[in-house]
Amino acid sequence: MSLKIKNVEFLHGENGLSKGDILIENGKIVGLNNEKEQTSFVPEREIDGENCLALPGLVNCHTHAGMVYTRGYADDKPLMTWLEDYIWPLEARITPEDIYWGTLLAISEMLASGTTTFTDMYFAMDKAGEAVEQSGIRAVLTWGLIGLQDNAIAQLEKTVDFAREWRGKANGRISTMLAPHAPYTCPPSFMDKVLQNAGQNNLPIHIHLAETREEMEQMEKEYGKSPVKWAFDIGVFEHKTLAAHCVHLNEEDIDILKEKQVGVAYNPQSNMKLASGVAPIVKLLEKGINVGFGTDGPGSNNSLDMFTEMKMGSFLQKVISKKSQNLPAGTVINLATTGGAEIIGLGSEIGSLQKGKKADIILLNLDKPHLTPVFDPLAHVVYSCRGSDVQTTIVDGSILYHKGEFYSLDVEKVKWEIRKRTERLTKSKK
Ligand SMILES: [Zn+2]
Repeated sequence: MSLKIKNVEFLHGENGLSKGDILIENGKIVGLNNEKEQTSFVPEREIDGENCLALPGLVNCHTHAGMVYTRGYADDKPLMTWLEDYIWPLEARITPEDIYWGTLLAISEMLASGTTTFTDMYFAMDKAGEAVEQSGIRAVLTWGLIGLQDNAIAQLEKTVDFAREWRGKANGRISTMLAPHAPYTCPPSFMDKVLQNAGQNNLPIHIHLAETREEMEQMEKEYGKSPVKWAFDIGVFEHKTLAAHCVHLNEEDIDILKEKQVGVAYNPQSNMKLASGVAPIVKLLEKGINVGFGTDGPGSNNSLDMFTEMKMGSFLQKVISKKSQNLPAGTVINLATTGGAEIIGLGSEIGSLQKGKKADIILLNLDKPHLTPVFDPLAHVVYSCRGSDVQTTIVDGSILYHKGEFYSLDVEKVKWEIRKRTERLTKSKK
């Protein structure tokens, strides 16, 4: 499949804008701007880029796609009530087939709002893998592990098998990690086994870390240390680690994250909705720590739209620092693209529009009332655009979404399945 996006303004390098053609062949970007090789390039398909801005596809570094059934199910409740009375009972009824359809719905939402890669942590990830394979999106799949259950070791073995079997699948679009859920659900004896397996199989770690005040209190009581120090002491960071949240950090924690090159997934809207707090992103960036954006699951957000995530994420940093120049638009876009790609281990393949990189590209239609006039297109992306301004989503050189139409999935069927399954899952609330 070869494709030309004609005469389009595009993000080139860090915050640079160029105008010209983007040439795509065999899943990769083969030409940018008005380079001479385009004279001999005869594409199978052309898209007119007039009035559009092309960006690298957005990278959602932390979500739980299969949780779409909990979207709007029980909002505005205290965190533990929300979890114990609503989310966990519902999740206890979720089947692998539910996760397949749930992940497809999440993928539909992500493709229609410009996300081309997502990092998922949930259960029955082989079913999530099927959804990724069929839909054409790119994903890092991680099977959440709870170390407190009787069958924890059997689960670990199962997820290691999954991670080995599925990495590189879907034409290389799937990669995998091991995902011990959080310090308070995975005791050190269990973590030892997880890390042993991570080392033996060369698998990175994906973990929730320092998310809530409750977690901080519990870790202090149980271990006398912060979650980050706990993870450092038991050797988590000897493996490439993607840490979600990192809201509550002291100076020592930040130094550890820097020294061990831990990637941080910033989930501002989930942290706001669950009243968890604000991650010190400006400080982390000043220290040179790699950060990407995540939406977290649809139960605690309640959408997977990276555009609102970027806007809120920037505003939140401005508010807590009382400096309106903090986390500016250009930086935000970098975090949502190259930054995210870096912390999930795909920095050399995706995250920027560069010759030789995979063609994961989105086109935003800027010809809209709420986007007029245009002074600075990048400021528009963060402060004025919505996910619904995405006109076209391309992954691995294939058009997956264009002008409201999904090319790789039957979205009406997906929505029908979700409505039917939600009825069963929510029949009794407690
Ligand atoms: Zn999460």
